[in-house]
Order: sequence, then structure tokens, then C-alpha cells
Amino acid sequence: MRVLIIDIDSKIPNLALKKAERYHLDRGDEVIWDMSLMANQVDRIYVSCVFRKNRHKAEEYEVYPHALIGGSGYDLKVTLPPEIEDVTPRINMGFTTRGCIRQCGFCVVPEKEGGIRIVGRLLDLWDGKANQITLLDNNILAVPRHFVEVCFQALLNWIRLDFNGGLDHRLLTREIAVMLAVTPHVVYKFAYDRPAYRKSVNRAIALLKAVGIRQSTWYVLVGYDTTLEQDLQRLNHLRFMNQRAFVQRYVMRPELNPLARWANQRHMFAAMTFGQFLREPRKRDYYIGIYGREKYEELLAA
Ligand code: SF4
Repeated sequence: MRVLIIDIDSKIPNLALKKAERYHLDRGDEVIWDMSLMANQVDRIYVSCVFRKNRHKAEEYEVYPHALIGGSGYDLKVTLPPEIEDVTPRINMGFTTRGCIRQCGFCVVPEKEGGIRIVGRLLDLWDGKANQITLLDNNILAVPRHFVEVCFQALLNWIRLDFNGGLDHRLLTREIAVMLAVTPHVVYKFAYDRPAYRKSVNRAIALLKAVGIRQSTWYVLVGYDTTLEQDLQRLNHLRFMNQRAFVQRYVMRPELNPLARWANQRHMFAAMTFGQFLREPRKRDYYIGIYGREKYEELLAA
């Protein structure tokens, strides 16, 4: 059997496509990646599209009856056949839980994956050699005993953990903070999605600092239901608390681009305010074009 796999737009290794690849390789099938010209000459096509803006590229494969097209940018309801979903490709990246306990309006996880459940162990993802595993779990702290077990597996095997899906700061406890402190890790990531979280963010930072974790990265959602002023307040709050930020744009709007350019460059964010960033002479006219002169002058004091 000949299989074609098309990865339209993944920014990190695409787990679903990796599962399909592993499944077919284990059966002795030939697997070809990203050669769209082969679409008529294969028995099966798997297409994944992560971002909605690229949906039209995935739609081009709808003419092939042997194509399975999915991904959050195409259709949240499309799933892999169970025999492929159950494959663990051991690429040092993946999920030990799926789903989430929360219902954030901007997030596809509740609709796509439903409530939280444990789907595997840390070591199921490990190739036995790598010293780091990237976890994509959406809200692993919602199952604290499982979280502790994952951390113990990492500790026992000298594996550094990257909780790439982010950790829910509202679920931090003293015990979880201690576990985070002793587990080998890359910089922890949390979410600061709403201005109303200010108090809980302060509480989380205090808990983390008490166990020696002085700095984390905070995903800051912008362009959803907040104003530019509210976005700046959250970012300035993180600067004041000596934390890192990563601006996540819900929509691509020009006025959000300078914010992301400033905050997502760690050294820039630590070294200067947004107002100082906007003073860059070479970009001044560009920024005035985005915000208008009056707003630009106002932002210089931000
Ligand atoms: S907590 Fe995170 S994963 Fe869960 S619904 Fe909210 S944004 Fe999505």
C-alpha cells in the first residue's frame, strides 16, 4: 500500500500525521510526505490543516475519495480511525491527557476534545534516549495525581519536561509548585488570558517564587475580547513582576503586531516599555500609520 501524507501548515511536528506514518510503516506500507503530485498514485491520503486561513489548501484534496482531511483549521469533528489514534509514535512529544475542565470561549479544545481524561503515560511518548519531552496536554494540572506521576517519571529518567500547552495558574497549589520546582524543566508557561486574572496571577507568581521559580512565560491572549489598553496593562503587570510574556493574537490585526513584536522578544520586553519600543525612529511612520498620530503620542507614555 502507498500512502501520501500532507502537512499543510504545522509549526511543530504534527502528532496525528506522525501516528498515521507510524501505523503504515509498521504494516510495511510505503509512506510519502508532502508530494501533492502523487495524490492520484496512492491508495490513501492523510491531510492536516491547523490554521483556518489555510483551509482552502486542504479543500483541494476533497476531490480525492481516498483522502482523510482533518485538523482544527479544517474540521474539528474529523478524527483518526481508532487503530491509528491508538498508535504511540514515541517522538518525545505528545499528550498524556486530552480535553479540559474549562470552557474558554476562544478555545477549540472543549468542542474538539471534551472533558479531561488521561490517555497515556509520559514514558509512552519517550524514545528511550531523548533528554526532553514536549507535553501538549491542555490542562494537566486538572488531574493533579497524574501530573505528579508524570513528574516522577521525568525525575526518575532524567527527562526535562516542556509543558508546551501551558499550565493553568489557577490550579497551582503549594504542593504542585514544589513538584514543579524539583522537576527538570524548560521555562514554565502559564496563561494570562483575561485582565480579571490579575489577583490569581499575583498569587501564582508568589507561590512559584516561594519555591525558587523566579520567572515563567505567560501567554497573553489579545484581539479576542480585550482592548489595547487592557492588553498593555497585563503586559506591564508581567514586566513589573519580572516575568516573560508571549502575546498570542486571536486575530491578526495591524495594531496588535507591534505589541507582539515587543513582548515576544524577551530581551526587548525586559529592557524597555512599549512606549520606548515605539520610539524607534526607523519605524515611527509605520506605527503612526497603524495607530494614528494622536493614539501614537498617547502610547509613547505607555
Ligand atoms: S483552560 Fe486552556 S485548554 Fe482549557 S478551555 Fe481554557 S484555553 Fe482551552
